[in-house]
Amino acid sequence: MDDAPRHNDLSHVIAADRAHVWHHLSQHKTYETTDPRVIVEGRGLRVWDATGRETLDAVSGGVWTVNVGYGRETIADAVRDQLVRMNFFAGAAGSIPGAQFAERLIEKMPGMSRVYYSNSGSEANEKAYKIVRQIAHRQHGGRKWKILYRERDYHGTTIATLASGGQEERRAMYGPFPPGFIPVPHCLEYRSQWGEVADYGLRAADAIEEVILREGPDTVGAIILEPVTAGGGVITPPEGYWPRVQEICRKYGLLLIIDEVVCGVGRTGTWFGYQHFGIQPDIVTMAKGVASGYAAISCTVTTEAVFDMFKDDPGDPLSYFRDISTFGGCTAGPAAALENMRIIEDEGLLDNCTAMGARLMDNLRALQARHPVIGDVRGKGLFCGAELVADRATRAPLPEAQVAAVLGAVMKRGVQIGMTNRSIPGLNNTLCLSPALMVSADQIDQITSAIDEALGEICESPGAG
Ligand code: PMP
Repeated sequence: MDDAPRHNDLSHVIAADRAHVWHHLSQHKTYETTDPRVIVEGRGLRVWDATGRETLDAVSGGVWTVNVGYGRETIADAVRDQLVRMNFFAGAAGSIPGAQFAERLIEKMPGMSRVYYSNSGSEANEKAYKIVRQIAHRQHGGRKWKILYRERDYHGTTIATLASGGQEERRAMYGPFPPGFIPVPHCLEYRSQWGEVADYGLRAADAIEEVILREGPDTVGAIILEPVTAGGGVITPPEGYWPRVQEICRKYGLLLIIDEVVCGVGRTGTWFGYQHFGIQPDIVTMAKGVASGYAAISCTVTTEAVFDMFKDDPGDPLSYFRDISTFGGCTAGPAAALENMRIIEDEGLLDNCTAMGARLMDNLRALQARHPVIGDVRGKGLFCGAELVADRATRAPLPEAQVAAVLGAVMKRGVQIGMTNRSIPGLNNTLCLSPALMVSADQIDQITSAIDEALGEICESPGAG
């Protein structure tokens, strides 16, 4: 590309990285024979690494985050202006961008009322759990302290969020875990636990009720769910699932916590994923897309009814939320989030997300018709997955090494896509696509034709498999 950025030799950066950085999610033995990848610049959906290589990023920063794309100068300006005026003040004090962003956010979330700031998705979920536990102590005599979570969902990397994590391999090395986090079955019909059932959505939701009855309804305070499961396989909920879940929560007095860390702020074509399903949560958590990675910010948003329970006795030092997040007092986050939201509105990115998401799904379905290795295609808006199988009839998963080879072959064609984490051994086999919300039709086609060619090369060429 003519407008590709020019950098002087960055080999020293790669050497320093290799010598001293411990990368996330990496087996460092591989860096004895390959260079670590260091990303040095981004514009729109394109990124360049330290070797000058350009890639079209179809996963928004690797993990569904950079919703408005790279190189947004107005966000950088807003953050700069705010930081030189007032960068940080923690504890009980508020800030101008904190108040302004909360007001704008609540406008997008009818029924919700209060915004609690912290820095990461894990932390936002931890706050939600602490709210549930405090309500259990204050309102239910210490009962209703258990929190349900769903197989294949992910809520973070801290010990309590791993305790509520439905992806076994992520947890395996980090137990023992604190008690009170109870799994319910996943809702991926393609991998049905009940064989073929007429109303899979209702069956999967009723499974939650069975767990509540088994545990004792007076011991269960909340359930946390992703609106569309991300890392567990891009699982769109089956028809009828969500209304029944809401009904069950009301019937047994469970707080409904929706983890919007991935789906939140436009990823699925609505401001929040849950808004597709006509449900009303009690607590909503969000992080990645809130400021598109321009600053670290997460929010735990509650209804006024939940918030009210923390005002029940002004004279009692245990009646308020006894929690702090030091960097929840950093103003860069809400300043970036405000500008991020303005961009999404002014550029009509929710509509673009819906239109381009539909194109992406159509393209993936066309690929599915041509490539037997694609067993299932799922998604909502610009958040799509294609599950790869070794055999369509038996649905045996494609071995992980081959899925990784597909990713490599796509990358060779200048496009980065992702794959989900293995929640059940052998199921790390769903390709993930989540380009920035202003992706163009041409870029969507570029992404899917790279996948088309890669599948041909890895799975269908003579000698493949
Ligand atoms: N919830 C979901 C649904 C996520 O996908 C993630 C991160 N991938 C988290 C929570 C945790 O977020 P963080 O890594 O910012 O702690």
